[in-house]
Amino acid sequence: MKPLQKVKKSLGQNFLIDKNIINKIIEIGNINKNKSVMEIGAGYGNLTKAIVCMEPKKILAIEKDKKLAFFLRKKFKNYKNLKIINRDILDIIEEKNFGQNMVVFGNLPYNISTKILASLIMLKNWPPWYDVLILMFQKEVADRILAKMQTKEFSRLSVLSNWRLEIKKHFNVSKNCFFPRPKINSTLLSFKPKRNNPFDLKNPKNLEKVTRVLFSNRRKMINKNFNKLFEKKKSIMKNLNIDLNKRPEELSNEMFYKIAVQYEKLFD
Ligand code: SAH
Repeated sequence: MKPLQKVKKSLGQNFLIDKNIINKIIEIGNINKNKSVMEIGAGYGNLTKAIVCMEPKKILAIEKDKKLAFFLRKKFKNYKNLKIINRDILDIIEEKNFGQNMVVFGNLPYNISTKILASLIMLKNWPPWYDVLILMFQKEVADRILAKMQTKEFSRLSVLSNWRLEIKKHFNVSKNCFFPRPKINSTLLSFKPKRNNPFDLKNPKNLEKVTRVLFSNRRKMINKNFNKLFEKKKSIMKNLNIDLNKRPEELSNEMFYKIAVQYEKLFD
C-alpha cells in the first residue's frame, strides 16, 4: 500500500490491510438493503469498500483528516448512498439526524478510542441512534472493557460500558494486519444497547463522577472517597448496604450503578 501522505500518528492512523479480517468484521454487521451504516475513521476506505459491497441503504463515513476525506470522496464518487463527512466524530456524536438503527463500524484511532466509546455510552437520548457498535481496540483496552470485578483490569471503563451496553468479544487481530504495524495486537468487540436499564440515570455524568472519584485510589479502601461523594451521610451507606473497607475493584458493576442512582437523587 502506498500512502497518499505521511501517516499521522496524532490521528491514530493504523490502516487495516488484511482482506480476510475486513470480511470477518463486515459479516458481524449483518448488513442488508434496509440498514444504514456509519464508519468512524474511514482512512483510505478499506473497510468502507467492503461495506459498500454489501449495498446498505445509506453509509456515513466520518473522517477527520481533510486529505483523506478528499481522497475518499474521489474514490467513492460513483456511490450515491455514501456520504463522506470531514468532521471530528467527537463533535458530532450528539447530532440527531444520522438516522436510526444504525450499524456502526470503527477501526478506531487508538489514542481516542476510549473517549469515543465513552461518548457513545453517555448519549443524552437512550436507546441511542445505533443498534450495534462493531469496534476495534488495542487488546489491552479491550481487556479492560471486558474485565470482571476482582481482577486488576477491572476499571471505570468496564463499569461504564456494562451500564448501557451488552458487550461481546469476537476475535483478536494480529498487529501484522495493519499498516503501519502497531506495537500491540488488537481485539474486535461489539456492543448492543440495553433497552430497559434498571439503573437509569437522568444525567449519565453522575456515573462518570462516581466512578472517577471511587477509582481515583485503586489500592485504598473506598471509605474516604465515598465520604467525599456523600459528605458523610450515614443513611446512604445503610441504604446501599455497602462495605466501605472494600477497594474499588471489589465492588460489583451493580453497586457502582446503585451508588450513582443515590448520588443523582441527592445532588441533582
Ligand atoms: N478504517 C480505516 C482507518 C483506521 S485508522 C482502516 O481500517 O483502514 C483511524 C482513522 O480515524 C484514520 O483515518 C484517522 O485519520 C481517523 N480519525 C482520527 N481521529 C478521528 C476523529 N476524531 N474523528 C474522525 N476520524 C478520526
